[in-house]
Amino acid sequence: MTARIIDGKAIAAQLRGKVAGEVARLKQAHDLTPGIAVVLVGTNPASEVYVRTKSKAVAEAGMRAIDRKLPETTTEADLLTEVARLNADPAVHGILVQLPLPKQIDSQKVIATIDPAKDVDGFHPVNVGKLASGLPALVPCTPLGCVVLAKTVHPSLAGMDAVVIGRSNIVGKPVAQLLLAENATVTVTHSKTRDLPTVARRADLLVAAIGKPEMVRGDWIKPGATVIDVGINRMPGEGGKWRIVGDVAFGEAQKVAGALTPVPGGVGPMTIACLLLNIVRAVCMQHGLPGPKI
Ligand code: NDP
Repeated sequence: MTARIIDGKAIAAQLRGKVAGEVARLKQAHDLTPGIAVVLVGTNPASEVYVRTKSKAVAEAGMRAIDRKLPETTTEADLLTEVARLNADPAVHGILVQLPLPKQIDSQKVIATIDPAKDVDGFHPVNVGKLASGLPALVPCTPLGCVVLAKTVHPSLAGMDAVVIGRSNIVGKPVAQLLLAENATVTVTHSKTRDLPTVARRADLLVAAIGKPEMVRGDWIKPGATVIDVGINRMPGEGGKWRIVGDVAFGEAQKVAGALTPVPGGVGPMTIACLLLNIVRAVCMQHGLPGPKI
């Protein structure tokens, strides 16, 4: 068997096109231009790249990106004041504070200060609680992207045995909650799980969010299963260059799985596309409009 490759790049491009259509509709029908504040504290090079990429994608979708660059020495009190200002600004529909923050700032405090209605990362405890309670919420972008990709293979996930490897707050746990909301039978595994390969082999849908290069081997995968690889691991490549690999041994998995996301080009591009979708959802929720039909 050779697995079908789930083309995250193409699916993300399609989703971004649909979001741009929704943005045009909001402008035309409601005179609303979605705006997102992207807050960067300090000069972490990786964070600078992420912020630039997000702001560019926001602009390409026809939305307004309001960049707030604050110095590395910003105090927690100053950042909380800035967040409160953005909460009160009606032109700002979404607030994204790029993590990690400098060590003098408590990230959890900052996340908890963002208005839940503007929390387009879906990390606020109110949104986490709503997701866990099965209520409409802004949900984390990468997990949402995983579910959208899985549904391109299986339009209904109901009754599927899903195994999630990893239980972080930003990927593993919300993926599990979203899959549960889709009526899958979900098993969440982690570093203390016994005999992980056997547990993984039960999965019709296997989601790997571990951060360990190529840890999931071919013989961990049930023949025909759908595998979503969230991992992004930088490995030394040829000629002193870096290469990116996932948490799944791609070559081995390709021979066993029914469908598989590549790394790069799988979940990664979906994260930004789902962020754009979340901004539009936030605007609609804030203005009592029906959410986008995507
Ligand atoms: P974390 O380090 O926060 O969580 C890793 C999880 O994997 C933990 O729950 C941990 O278990 C579990 N784990 C670690 N080692 C093992 C093991 N040997 N066996 C079983 N479980 C194990 O990582 P994140 O969730 O933040 O990210 C996971 C991966 O996804 C990373 O590669 C990251 O770069 C990538 N990522 C990709 C994104 C994208 O846009 N594509 C976005 C976000 C993340 P325990 O809880 O017991 O410690």
